[in-house]
Amino acid sequence: MFDLPPLPYPMDALAPYISEQTMEFHYGKHHKAYVDNLNKLIKDTEFEQMSLEDVVKNTAERKDLGGIFNNAAQAWNHAFFWKSMKPNGGGEPSGELKKKIERDFGSYDNFKAEFKTAATTQFGSGWAWLVEKDGKLSVMKTSNADTPIAHGYKPIITVDVWEHAYYLDYQNRRPDFVEAYLAHLVNWN
Ligand code: MN
Repeated sequence: MFDLPPLPYPMDALAPYISEQTMEFHYGKHHKAYVDNLNKLIKDTEFEQMSLEDVVKNTAERKDLGGIFNNAAQAWNHAFFWKSMKPNGGGEPSGELKKKIERDFGSYDNFKAEFKTAATTQFGSGWAWLVEKDGKLSVMKTSNADTPIAHGYKPIITVDVWEHAYYLDYQNRRPDFVEAYLAHLVNWN
């Protein structure tokens, strides 16, 4: 059975870019509901003994297990999203990651433009990601609960672009939310 992992910072730590009220709903209600629903769905099944990552990977191609996949993937995605941010984050990475971004995108600005396009053009609910596969970085967007770990990619950072992630603070202005994420929140550590 799975627990709701603790937030890596207080509920109000990302304000004003993400308000305490948004965190109370997004972490305290939405993320918690994915974990609670997952636990109900896997009770007395083989999945009770697996890691969350293994539940995601083992249900990704199973149309008959869509409910378990959706809740497991959302539980995983949200835990990763909280770790993708920190108070006083944002801006460019340094060191090895900076070099790899420049190698694979040409420049940090190119990466940023591609990431923002992915996040703002994801139609409906979903996620934008920086991922690595075979040593190469790329930007990816996924819809609904879908996640790069179901497709053999290693996530580096993500931003949640479901409306529940930004509507209380930004209403329909998803591009402003994504800009704030990159400028003030992203955690390259
Ligand atoms: Mn969310």
